[in-house]
Amino acid sequence: MPEQLVRDLTADASVRRASRFFTEHADEITAEHAAICEIPAPPFGEGERARWFLQRFRECGLREVEIDGEGNCVGLRRGRELRPLLVVSAHLDTVFPEGTNVTVRREGSRLLAPGIADDSCGLAALLALARALDAAAVETNGSLLFAATVGEEGAGNLRGVRYLFGAGRWANQIDAFLSFDGAGVESITHRALGSRRYRVTFEGAGGHSWSDFGAANPVHALGRAIARLVAYPTPDDPRTTFNVGRIAGGAGVNVIAREAAMDVDLRSESAAELQRLDAFFRRVVREAADDENAARRPSQSAVPLTIKMELIGDRPGGETPPDAPLVQLAVAATRHIGHRPQFDCSSTDSNIPMAQGVPAITLGAGGASGSSHTLQEWYDPRGRAIGLQRALLVILGTVGA
Ligand SMILES: [Zn+2]
Repeated sequence: MPEQLVRDLTADASVRRASRFFTEHADEITAEHAAICEIPAPPFGEGERARWFLQRFRECGLREVEIDGEGNCVGLRRGRELRPLLVVSAHLDTVFPEGTNVTVRREGSRLLAPGIADDSCGLAALLALARALDAAAVETNGSLLFAATVGEEGAGNLRGVRYLFGAGRWANQIDAFLSFDGAGVESITHRALGSRRYRVTFEGAGGHSWSDFGAANPVHALGRAIARLVAYPTPDDPRTTFNVGRIAGGAGVNVIAREAAMDVDLRSESAAELQRLDAFFRRVVREAADDENAARRPSQSAVPLTIKMELIGDRPGGETPPDAPLVQLAVAATRHIGHRPQFDCSSTDSNIPMAQGVPAITLGAGGASGSSHTLQEWYDPRGRAIGLQRALLVILGTVGA
């Protein structure tokens, strides 16, 4: 029983020592957290932060530390046996472009900086846990593979964790997966939010706004497509969403554009609903082009619009069942620290193992946060220690101590 397992763990002297590490070293953990955040890690530019982790992982006594073929920094904490092997991870990348000011400011107990919570606090948790296990000389039965992953956000399309479970050297030996993403001490993400992302480009002959009026117009087609999409009746349950996140195209106010493009994000808690929304979206894009082409004036350019549709993101859905031992352990650990577990569905690094049937959950790394993915992002480390204690129990309960 998971409750008994948690009780047994908390009765163990070395586990208690590791647990105390988080309160005794709270200031150092927060200082290291700020240092992580101040190393820029824009999408596809995580290298500097990954190399910094290489040194830290070695300091924590991890073995076989390396930057793998995709850019993830991984290191093994070997137990008495290699298996069961649990991945303990957080993501290196932020959503913020190169050049963003990532200097950490302090206001009261809060730290403020882009990326301070998502996912610098998860990365800080990785190091705090590795240091605590090392300092307390906790021995485990199975092993832990610490992983700071690349490409969790946006266009990264989970490339780091895909590699870990694909071409990576540990791929076929991973028995369970835990990631920290953002703050909090209650949420247990055990369902993966599936998403599909497209870049759609309408292309035409272009022309002069007055003399070529009546030619097929890519910007107008884009408008027709968006108007159709936003009329889609999304269900509230299972929650299903769409977003036209970016539009581009055109050369000037009196020019018929040669092209117009949009980036669109489609999501659903349900794979079947996502498929329905996906089919609807692809149909309205075709219909928008057909309507725009049909509206051409006969005297004008006969060139019809063409559509280019690129799939720029595809995250599989999936689930670790609520009665799976990993989820039950997280529930018991959350209750143990005096909180109420909240089941959650989200898009995280856990999507990939869940879709492959490997037990996986994503937890908050303790503390509180707000305004993620904005320049006003903040993190409050109060409550971090119990979040890390919860994580420690889940980790040790999974690999055995
Ligand atoms: Zn994140």
